[in-house]
Amino acid sequence: MEKEQPSRTDRREFFSSVVAGSVAAAAMLARPAQAADGPQLAKVEPLPYPYDALEPYIDAETMHLHHDKHYQSYADGYNKAAQAQPSLLAVSPEANVANLASLPESVQTAVRNSGGGFVNHKFFWTVLKKNNGAGPQGELAKAIDAKFGSFTAFQTEFTKAAATVFGSGWAWLALGPDNTLAIEQTHNQDSTLTAKHRPVLGIDVWEHAYYLKYQNRRPEYVAAFYNVINWEFVSGRYAELMKG
Ligand code: MN
Repeated sequence: MEKEQPSRTDRREFFSSVVAGSVAAAAMLARPAQAADGPQLAKVEPLPYPYDALEPYIDAETMHLHHDKHYQSYADGYNKAAQAQPSLLAVSPEANVANLASLPESVQTAVRNSGGGFVNHKFFWTVLKKNNGAGPQGELAKAIDAKFGSFTAFQTEFTKAAATVFGSGWAWLALGPDNTLAIEQTHNQDSTLTAKHRPVLGIDVWEHAYYLKYQNRRPEYVAAFYNVINWEFVSGRYAELMKG
C-alpha cells in the first residue's frame, strides 16, 4: 500500500520545535494567519503526533488511512458544500454543524455528514495520547465520580455505549446545556454539537477506525482505547467548558 507520509524526520523536527517553543507560538505555526472574516473552510492539519504514537493500541497504518484519507474526504465534502452555498463560509464548520436546522435545506445533508465527519474527527485527534494508565484529573475526576459513582462505573457505561452503537457512529462523554455530563451515542457522523451538547471525550466506532488491527472485534478496540485517552487534555477541556 502506498504511503503518503510526510517525512518522519520533518515531523519530529516540527515536534521538537513545538516542545521548545511556547504553546502560543506552536498554535501560530499550526494556523497561518487568516483574516477573521475570511472564508472558513474545513482545513486538514497534520496530526499533532507521529502516526505511530498510539501503537500498539491504534496502529500507524490505521492512523494514516483514517487521517489522510477518511478525514480529508470529510473536509473535501464539507468544502464542496460550503463553496456551493457561500453563506456557510462566514462561520466555522463547528458553528454550521451546531446550527444544522437553520441552514439552507440544500446543504443540510452535506453539512450533517461531511461537516459532522470533519468536526468529529478534528476533535477526536485531540483526545488521543498514550496515557500510561493515568486517568481523569481535577474537576473532571470529581464530576465523573459524582455522576457515575466511580471511574470504573463510568468506564463500564462508556464501554457499553461504544460497543452498542449499531453500525457506524460514535460514543461520547458530553456536556449538556445545563453543564451536566452524559454518555451519548451518535450515528453515522452526527455530532453532539447539533443537539447543543459539547463533546468532552469521543470514540469513533466506525469500522475504518479499527478494522485493520481488530477486524470485527470492536470490544477489543474499545478496551484498548482507554490506553490512548489524553486525560490531561480532556480534563483541561472540561474545566474550560465549565468556566463558560
Ligand atoms: Mn473515523
